[in-house]
Amino acid sequence: MPVIEVRNLSKRYGETVAVRDVSFTVEAGEIFGILGPNGAGKTTTVECVAGLRSPDGGEITVLGRSPRDPALRKLVGVQLQESELQEKLTVREVLELYSAFYPQPADWRGLAGDLGLGEKLNTYFGKLSGGQKQRLSIALALIGNPQIAILDELTTGLDPQARRDTWELISGVRDRGVTLLLVTHFMEEAERLCDRIAVIDRGEVVALNTPAGLVEQTATADQTIRFRPSAPIEDELLTSLPEVSRINRHGDRIEVVGTGNLLHAVTSVLASHGIVAVELRLEQATLDDAFVRLTGRTAEESPR
Ligand code: ADP
Repeated sequence: MPVIEVRNLSKRYGETVAVRDVSFTVEAGEIFGILGPNGAGKTTTVECVAGLRSPDGGEITVLGRSPRDPALRKLVGVQLQESELQEKLTVREVLELYSAFYPQPADWRGLAGDLGLGEKLNTYFGKLSGGQKQRLSIALALIGNPQIAILDELTTGLDPQARRDTWELISGVRDRGVTLLLVTHFMEEAERLCDRIAVIDRGEVVALNTPAGLVEQTATADQTIRFRPSAPIEDELLTSLPEVSRINRHGDRIEVVGTGNLLHAVTSVLASHGIVAVELRLEQATLDDAFVRLTGRTAEESPR
């Protein structure tokens, strides 16, 4: 049984259609990413899954229940954007307060340490930097030892090192069996962390696949191999391969453009003629390229 099931979700704010038609299912133990440009409807979607907003249409079940079922409060941890806490509570007080809400809370000291907040326990929330507030909000999403954690833009505002540390923490959380639903507009984050990704654009799912599957699904003839053959070769040797669409020569270097398992095809045929590809480079389509193909813009751009 899927852990989260969203079917034909729609939600508008007045005239603005935030979510037009979104469907996806999240299986137990996976990290499922929602990726899309600003304003695509990602936050609205996860807020509906978290029971914080009522959908206008469609159906959502979380662990077989309606998102607003009070029984879910102890099973689902939520980190949302711009979590606002009392300025005059210390980090320690916030963590103690939140652990008290749960029957089997996580070890909050360990969590604070893992998130680089171990030194900040006596600091007021109001005195934390943006990145520290962000990390505290992640701690609060995980403090109840939830079965599902919903994280929205979890590493926005963090420096590269803190971002990597957070990814490591999230992978560790998944390894303990927690299912994660995360919203991101960072391609690298989606690629590193997610088992599957739903790309949302203008309130609709435009693709749903593994990171590698998304790249494959949208990659056409855009793998390029460059090398210098150790001995002269005829064009025909390469152009006769079904994977090769064209070759270009630049002095003693050859550029081969093609699809499928291009690298294997090219290196095999060279090997069979006793030729070595020197200074071999492969350029492949990335998730960035896939995203641009699917949505017509980069994740940082706004659709409107
Ligand atoms: P994303 O998370 O992908 O950036 P959102 O779900 O936040 O997208 O927003 C989708 C659309 O709905 C945007 O056009 C946004 O301006 C609008 N929107 C979001 N929240 C509200 C709100 N509370 N009231 C009015 N419009 C909103």
